[in-house]
Amino acid sequence: EKLIVVVCGGGNAAHVMSGLSASRENVEVRVLDVFSDEAERWTKTLGDDSIVLTVNHPDGSHDEVRGKPNFITNDASKAVPGANLIVFAVPAFAHESYFEAIKPYVKPNMIIVGMPGQPGFEFQCFSILKDIAPKCCVIVFEGLPWAARITEFGRAITVLSTKDFLNCVVIKGESKIEGDPLKPIQYLLGPHPVATKLHNFLEPTLSTKSIMHPPIMYGAWKDWDGNPLSEKPLFYQGLTEEAAELMSGMSDELLATAKAISLKKPEINLDGVIHLFDWLSKIYANEASDKSNLLQLLRTNSAFNGLLHPMKEVEPGKFMPDFTFRYLTEDVPFGVVVLKGISELAGVDTPITDKVLAWSQKMIGKEYIVGNSLCGKDVATSRAPQRYGYKSLDDFDPLL
Ligand code: NAD
Repeated sequence: EKLIVVVCGGGNAAHVMSGLSASRENVEVRVLDVFSDEAERWTKTLGDDSIVLTVNHPDGSHDEVRGKPNFITNDASKAVPGANLIVFAVPAFAHESYFEAIKPYVKPNMIIVGMPGQPGFEFQCFSILKDIAPKCCVIVFEGLPWAARITEFGRAITVLSTKDFLNCVVIKGESKIEGDPLKPIQYLLGPHPVATKLHNFLEPTLSTKSIMHPPIMYGAWKDWDGNPLSEKPLFYQGLTEEAAELMSGMSDELLATAKAISLKKPEINLDGVIHLFDWLSKIYANEASDKSNLLQLLRTNSAFNGLLHPMKEVEPGKFMPDFTFRYLTEDVPFGVVVLKGISELAGVDTPITDKVLAWSQKMIGKEYIVGNSLCGKDVATSRAPQRYGYKSLDDFDPLL
């Protein structure tokens, strides 16, 4: 039987996912792109051609993969009916518009995939899709399977690297899908990455990488005098000791949160929640020349060589930090704020997170915390559980 896949988005991730899925046999690919006139532009640009993926391999060789989506549309009423899988392959700030678009057409036993999900995906999904969400299977990946960049919009993309393994969470709910619900998505991905199942959504959420960028931004810019710089500073290699300590402290607060949840609800397995330092030590075992502590692990990591702070050129050779970049605008409302919300529900104080959050929210012109409490007016546009009316840890039950 044919697999019908809806790929949501129009950026790097959506290009790879739609091209790759369409390259597989017996798959119908419908691209749903609700952003501006992107669907129309993509349809025109691609014409009768296939999307071409240039897939790089670690040994320096590369393959070409071609796939032609059946159609690209901004109309969910055309894309969703009859679909088996709906894959969100778009930045977190755009998820809400896709949930709203697909909502009237989602039916029981559809598989909804966050690729990646980012913290709060589950809260948002269950809140917007309401009664139908528990009847679907929700699969959330911890990251994107690839590092990828579009080389020609709508037509060509380079897959710079592919992960070997990728953690995911499967919320099967009351859905009735025959066999392993991961099977269809693994078929589309191919042999790599291998999707590995965690116990529940709290594990990847409390081990998230969203706590990396905000403290680095804080360390670099909190004492900035407001004058343009003559060059863009190094992002990881320029990491300050203070920022590394804050990052580590935020991770400690997440471990404390996991511990508090385990005490109150021992049935929730949180063995998979590990400290950021331990996680990075594993991932970058070969890339970091000094793994003695978090600061050195990040500063001496060849994977981060030459990566710079996001900066805007205000006049030739003069740069200002770009606080609108996703390091704050994605990782705060769809990262740190969600974590703060979970810690509050668990009754855990988070002074270090609060310090970074207080500065970060100011930089992006938002108010999430007031003092140390998550009650600012912009919680309403974040993905904190409180935004969706969660009042206690028991409210997590339908998602577990
Ligand atoms: P992207 O920057 O390519 O996404 C851009 C797309 O987002 C646009 O083409 C449009 O379709 C959509 N969009 C932009 N503004 C919008 C708006 N206002 N409303 C609705 N849609 C809008 O993002 P990406 O590279 O595909 O990344 C997707 C996710 O994967 C992100 O969470 C990113 O952090 C993560 N990620 C990406 C990579 C990578 O290599 N590309 C690597 C790791 C993780």
